[in-house]
Amino acid sequence: MQELANDVWHTAPGTSRMRPVMVSTPTSLRVDREKFARASGLGIVTSDSAGLITSWNPAAERIFGISRAEALGRPMEIIIPERFRAAHRAGLARVAAGARSSLLGQTVEVTAMKADGSEFPIALSLASWQTRSGVEFGAHVLDISERRSAEERLLRRASHDQLTRLLGNKSFKAQLESLLEKKHRVALVLIDLDGFKAINDSLGHSIGDALLQSLAVRLRAIASPDWIIGRLGGDEFAIALPADADRAQIVQSARGLLSRLSKTFRVGGHQLHVSASIGIALSPDDTADAEEMMALADRAMFQSKRRGGHRVRLFDQTMRAEIAARRSLNDGLRSARVENQWHLFYQPQYDLSSGRLFGAEALLRWRHPEWGLIEPAAFLPVLETHAVSFETGQWVLNETCRQLSEWRKAGFHVPRISCNLFASQLHSQSFQKTVFHALKTHGLQPCDLDLEITEKIALKLDPASLRPLFELVESGVGVALDDFGTGYASLSTLTRAPITQLKIDRSFVGPVVDDPHSSAVVAGMVAISRELGVDLIAEGVEKTAQADKLAALGCNLMQGFMFGMPMQADDFAAIGMRPSGSFP
Ligand code: C2E
Ligand code: CA
Ligand code: CA
Repeated sequence: MQELANDVWHTAPGTSRMRPVMVSTPTSLRVDREKFARASGLGIVTSDSAGLITSWNPAAERIFGISRAEALGRPMEIIIPERFRAAHRAGLARVAAGARSSLLGQTVEVTAMKADGSEFPIALSLASWQTRSGVEFGAHVLDISERRSAEERLLRRASHDQLTRLLGNKSFKAQLESLLEKKHRVALVLIDLDGFKAINDSLGHSIGDALLQSLAVRLRAIASPDWIIGRLGGDEFAIALPADADRAQIVQSARGLLSRLSKTFRVGGHQLHVSASIGIALSPDDTADAEEMMALADRAMFQSKRRGGHRVRLFDQTMRAEIAARRSLNDGLRSARVENQWHLFYQPQYDLSSGRLFGAEALLRWRHPEWGLIEPAAFLPVLETHAVSFETGQWVLNETCRQLSEWRKAGFHVPRISCNLFASQLHSQSFQKTVFHALKTHGLQPCDLDLEITEKIALKLDPASLRPLFELVESGVGVALDDFGTGYASLSTLTRAPITQLKIDRSFVGPVVDDPHSSAVVAGMVAISRELGVDLIAEGVEKTAQADKLAALGCNLMQGFMFGMPMQADDFAAIGMRPSGSFP
């Protein structure tokens, strides 16, 4: 703004930001000038070639707080802040000497001054004309203080997080960048709350929001004036600060911060205890680049979280290897599909009451040319949020249908098949259509297919994402709730989502023989499945004793190493060849 004002008061051919406007010609100014000037809401001011004020209308009196009597004959400089006056004088002299100012005929926004010395923004349209006694100047003046503060509010809104009034993600990064340029050493502290989701889920979003606001207030209270504080999103906050201390001292201060953040919050009648996982990266120690610094601090924060939260981790070089590994995993996943590296293994499911094969679950494997055969645990956490999760899931869906169809054509008896879904598939509005299409393409019936959704995914489904599932179930496709009992909202999910099968998680199946709590949970699940009229299948059955116990409790559908490992399609076909698919 200062530069802009400088330029304008300078009245030299400028580079300032200007907007063309209607500008009064000298003649129109002269026609009934007095009358027009008196009635106008715009300040109208004229001056002679020496820059002395020759007319000053009532609006100008209001705008500048200077009466006509006080203004007439005084230099125009009375409305120009001191620091711009020299430039103004020089510009005036140039125009008076015949130079043309490109500002004439334009509206520009500059800083002006009132009688009391206070500064404020105006929009200024300048005109000049030749008279017998030399060049005269005229200006239309509009006080834009109000508009400017509204604009600033808007700007503030765009760069600040609405909820907490801290810097938003983008502006935080920008400020981190400029701090890195200015300061010799900078610490970036990422703070991610532990257990925030549980508070949101149990007490509602308005309490969650209020907690984030209180946390922001507390952060500001703790902060020194030179700290830059932002909210990166969700329950993640960041602080960038000049850091001259050694590493140990920095960790020590961060622990102090952590313990102050962990003190009770009183929000909406609740006493809330939160903790946080903190990760720190240092510049130039770890990197000089803002973007990379964010990634490094994030990695350190992730390590804090992984070790149970409520701790501070400084980035160290071992984490760099992890970041590199994650990057190559990311890249590898991107090309896995086109390079035909995805494979499905199939695990048999049995119905113990009949001793027959009940179905098969398709399980994804990644055959990487260098890394070999990789199980989901190694890549799923990255794949689940990867851009390719949708296309990978759709490939699984199609391949599953194709395989069942191939087995059947070859005369193998496999009653039904199931595959696991990614969240991204359910977020696609036309997901059901793609399922029907896959079934049709491979000549299957809806009842041949089960779609498995983990409880974790089911928990997050909004009504819109549930719609395709309702349509699918109505047509006869099965929907299984996977890992049942491990999520937080097992029972509420059952009332919201259309489900035809529950899969008891193996964490209950493993100890079912010896642990009375696990067997009680399984007994409860048997009761629920009967009440709802859905199938119940136990996963992870490894021992005869477990199978017997499950059967005694009333669960006869089973899957696990005892009956068969996940295997390649050809090996699975051998099971299908046994008379009626009976279990070995
Ligand atoms: P899940 O759906 O619960 O699959 C069962 C997992 O338990 C499989 O691991 C299987 O190998 C393992 N398992 C089977 N029987 C036993 C047993 O008796 N004992 C033990 N200890 N484990 C047993 P896998 O194949 O590594 O898959 C892990 C998870 O990855 C799956 O859990 C599923 O959630 C996910 N997943 C696998 N394939 C896909 C897929 O194509 N799409 C999606 N979205 N997720 C998949
Ligand atoms: Ca599954
Ligand atoms: Ca499972």
